Amino acid sequence: MRYSALSILKQGLTGNKSWKPVWREPEPKKSYDYIIVGGGGHGLATAHYLAKIFGGKNIAVLEKGWIGSGNIGRNTTIVRSNYVLDGNQPFYEMSVKLWEGLEQDLNYNAMMSQRGILNLAHSDGQRDAYARRGNAMLMSGADAELLDRDAIQKMCPFLKFDNERFPIKAGLLQRRAGTARHDAVAWGYARSADMHGVDIIQNCEVTGFQMKNGKCIGVQTNRGPIKAKKTAVCVAGSSSRVMEKAGMRLPIESHVLQAFVSEGLKPTIPGVITYGAGHFYISQSDKGGLVFGGDLDGYNSYAQRGNLPVVEDVCAGGMSIMPMIGRARLLRMWGGVMDMSMDGSPFIDKTGIGGLYFNGGWCYGGFKATPASGYCYAHLLATDTPHENASQMRLDRFMRGNMIDEKGAGAQPNLH
Ligand SMILES: Cc1cc2nc3c(=O)[nH]c(=O)nc-3n(C[C@H](O)[C@H](O)[C@H](O)COP(=O)(O)OP(=O)(O)OC[C@H]3O[C@@H](n4cnc5c(N)ncnc54)[C@H](O)[C@@H]3O)c2cc1C
Repeated sequence: MRYSALSILKQGLTGNKSWKPVWREPEPKKSYDYIIVGGGGHGLATAHYLAKIFGGKNIAVLEKGWIGSGNIGRNTTIVRSNYVLDGNQPFYEMSVKLWEGLEQDLNYNAMMSQRGILNLAHSDGQRDAYARRGNAMLMSGADAELLDRDAIQKMCPFLKFDNERFPIKAGLLQRRAGTARHDAVAWGYARSADMHGVDIIQNCEVTGFQMKNGKCIGVQTNRGPIKAKKTAVCVAGSSSRVMEKAGMRLPIESHVLQAFVSEGLKPTIPGVITYGAGHFYISQSDKGGLVFGGDLDGYNSYAQRGNLPVVEDVCAGGMSIMPMIGRARLLRMWGGVMDMSMDGSPFIDKTGIGGLYFNGGWCYGGFKATPASGYCYAHLLATDTPHENASQMRLDRFMRGNMIDEKGAGAQPNLH
């Protein structure tokens, strides 16, 4: 069923009685051409583009919980393309362009709002680094503006410009960046994939892989074995646990990241603001809640909840750059499991096992990547060649020494 102003009017006048379920609840078939393991944002986007753009048929998405139970429903919804390196920037700019047309593509309101992102700089060196970053962004077709202190003061008078440790000197602004409603993104992709014939199977956990002569020919699940010509894993924070079942070790560690939401306030924060030096970032939702977060919980975990020292650390970071936040009451917080790759960049690649593909390593930045990740993964599945914008996101890049080390921090996740 397509949504339109007319359908809303009709439903409103007839008691909203004939809305249809947004996707079907099919039983799993015995075999598929493509199985996508993981019904998060990336898995659902892959199914959507595979069916709609690349003509894939006979596709299933297997999700161990419910659609939206993973990080797609837990993130702080920031969309941006402010990267530097060739291996990343064109990919994330492709993603922003897909975001810009997403609601028309899906016929679903994902509440995409291009309210901008401002990265604060606190030293001359950091301003120079942002100038370089902005130039890389412009060269990939993205937008970027370097702001001085006065311009930031006009935009965000509530910041503490003379912060004792990190005074604000400049900022990098991307106006086309912004936020989207995370659950709606999952639901919109699920609905569209379903409309293109994809079976979305919830409560179906992949517990192992069926192998024959060194090739993957399907999966084992808690609802029985299912055969597949191609199996595409896309399970974010569970990447290492799932790929271990195929005998693969990944250059990925799982960590918890927490998010926080305050009570609803009048519009205050003009867009997204990041204060990297103090491990704090913030935006304001359409309902008025301040949505903010900070650093990872610093230990490996698969639990979707964090601990209190990080709550204190994030709130202290917020207070130091934006003292007025101390007047707001915290309403809720939660955690999600991050698939932290060793250079901070993701993977979209075939594995060494025939018929088995892998997408993961999104760290704390995979929401904004959802459309491009789905598109490029679908391209790989359909053509067996990497999309040009994801051609460096290879699993063997550590062996080859070709890391995509965006932060220049070296191969240690605790430094990026
Ligand atoms: C607090 C927080 C804030 C964040 N903020 C941002 C942000 O502002 N901007 C941004 O770009 N990114 C952000 N991220 C990161 C982003 O949410 C993730 O990188 C991205 O959502 C991961 O991709 P996904 O949506 O496919 O993951 P998920 O939604 O986690 O999907 C993976 C799915 O796989 C399923 N699964 C796991 N194991 C199995 C199995 N064995 N069988 C079947 N299914 C399985 C899981 O149940 C899950 O539904 C944030 C994350 C968190 C937690």
